[in-house]
Amino acid sequence: AEEMIIRSEKMSIAGQLAAGIAHEIRNPLTSLRGFIQLLQAGLENKQEYYKIMMDEIEKINTITSELLFISKPMTDEKTDEKVSEMLNDVIILLSTHASLFKIELQLQIREDMHIHCDRSQLKQVFINLIKNAIEEMSDGGIIQTIVERQNNCCVISIIDQGPGIPKHLIHKLKEPFFTTKKNGTGLGLMISNQIIENHHGYLEIKSEKNIGSTFSIYIPLN
Ligand code: ADP
Ligand code: MG
Repeated sequence: AEEMIIRSEKMSIAGQLAAGIAHEIRNPLTSLRGFIQLLQAGLENKQEYYKIMMDEIEKINTITSELLFISKPMTDEKTDEKVSEMLNDVIILLSTHASLFKIELQLQIREDMHIHCDRSQLKQVFINLIKNAIEEMSDGGIIQTIVERQNNCCVISIIDQGPGIPKHLIHKLKEPFFTTKKNGTGLGLMISNQIIENHHGYLEIKSEKNIGSTFSIYIPLN
């Protein structure tokens, strides 16, 4: 029994992922097969079926593109990048999308820093976190991004005015496939956390019901 416990603890992140992926892709496939059978039977409301089928295909598509991102080899090509520049790029990229939902993206640089990082990967983390914040704020509002220095760390905090995360769920957020969204993949935070760890950093999650959540990225300076 002890050996089994050790073995399951050793089940690699790749193994956990593979099991999850198989499951996540089989569900929409099963549903697609069902709808094709219904269509073969020549039933009415075809348009409705097509819509659901497209959603299922889109789900598989999203999962596979996130997986392609994970499977990219971890090139160790880090450069010195100005934090404010990376965040400006990301905020410009997302602000049109945000304004559709009556959300304003604010950026406050309390202290600008250069960090040694993989620029595109870290930008992906900022995008994932800000997108999550947007997706929680159905009534609109402000998403603040604050950059400051704490001891020997660059801290980037993304603060939303969403509904918050129940305490007992916070530890699940970094696990693959945990999602509360109809079309979520539950991979964004897992990938983000992995990228931050590759920079020897830490992702801190704080939340207060009905006030909002704060995701803080700590990246050690050199
Ligand atoms: P996805 O966005 O596909 O659901 P993520 O890994 O990005 O996957 O997020 C996992 C889950 O964490 C979300 O489904 C949501 O329940 C929760 N979450 C993430 N960000 C926030 C946030 N800013 N506020 C509240 N809940 C959040
Ligand atoms: Mg997400």
